[in-house]
Amino acid sequence: MFDVIIIGAGPAGMAAAIYAGRAKLDTLLLEKEFAGGQVAKTYEVANYPGIAAIIGPDLALQMQEHAKVFGISPVVEEVTEVQLEGKTKIVKTRKHTYESKTVIIATGANWKELGLPMERTLRGKGVSYCATCDGAFFDGKVTAIVGGGDTAVEDAIFLARHSPKVYVIHRRNQFRAAKVLQEKLFEQPNVEVLWDTEVLEIIGDDTVKGIRIKNNKNGEMKELEIEGLFVAIGTIPNGALFTGKVAMDEVGYIQAGEDCKTDVPGVFVAGDLRRKVLMQIITAAADGAVALYGVEKFIIEEYDQIVG
Ligand code: NAP
Repeated sequence: MFDVIIIGAGPAGMAAAIYAGRAKLDTLLLEKEFAGGQVAKTYEVANYPGIAAIIGPDLALQMQEHAKVFGISPVVEEVTEVQLEGKTKIVKTRKHTYESKTVIIATGANWKELGLPMERTLRGKGVSYCATCDGAFFDGKVTAIVGGGDTAVEDAIFLARHSPKVYVIHRRNQFRAAKVLQEKLFEQPNVEVLWDTEVLEIIGDDTVKGIRIKNNKNGEMKELEIEGLFVAIGTIPNGALFTGKVAMDEVGYIQAGEDCKTDVPGVFVAGDLRRKVLMQIITAAADGAVALYGVEKFIIEEYDQIVG
């Protein structure tokens, strides 16, 4: 019987593991592919306090080494089923069935991709999914952002501080972003909105050199010279395993406040799978710490009271 099983070894899961190790809890950290989550797929991270600049996979490795110092290493086994109700939580993988007093769900979310041929190749080489993470790398460079939600509009306002010119490319003629954000966007002199427009192709072999776009109303096609393409068309939560087992919002994010507690006693959610205003490494790591604090309190104050 573990004290805590942490599912997912991204920054949230790693932070929880570090705190669990320091708290000397009997801990199992499960990961389906490689530690680091989205960080391991990020080119460079330059906004984590204390580390001025680091390659994403290196930061992931450092987090892994850090957890190891406290005796915890990720076990690479994909979770196939969870039973979260009741006193003993059951977590099954293809190889084993584990039991625990508590569970921290830290399986995160993925950025939605446009699905264009060069998109993955040029990720980190001009293609980005996070303007607040990567925008500063594009100082003095022309950029474009795709999307029409809060993220795209907010990110375009952020990018306008770095780029001499920002194109906002939206497939319809109306944003779904909050009106206050839209008003702020329209005040930016260096932002041009291209309505009813889709990106057909990303141009560039080693780095982004431009995009080919199409107006879906009149069929007009053209090329834009840009060095950064920011994709802000939403995220996909990695929470299918937990559907119907903890409360989720309509999109599939697990509902929990800043205390990271789900509606199931002893079950916590940390990182990008918890809906929050800013999905970044630092906020995911913070969740991991808070969730583990919740685990400790739950074990001391509530676990023994549960009949089962
Ligand atoms: P979102 O609200 O789902 O918006 C996604 C945008 O991308 C939409 O404009 C959509 O177009 C467009 N889109 C989707 N798939 C596309 C595709 N394949 N090609 C081109 N465009 C595509 O996502 P979000 O902006 O990331 O926001 C997610 C949630 O977080 C929302 O609830 C939002 O309110 C919240 N949020 C809040 C804040 C804040 O309060 N400050 C900041 C960021 C996010 P259509 O409009 O045509 O569907």
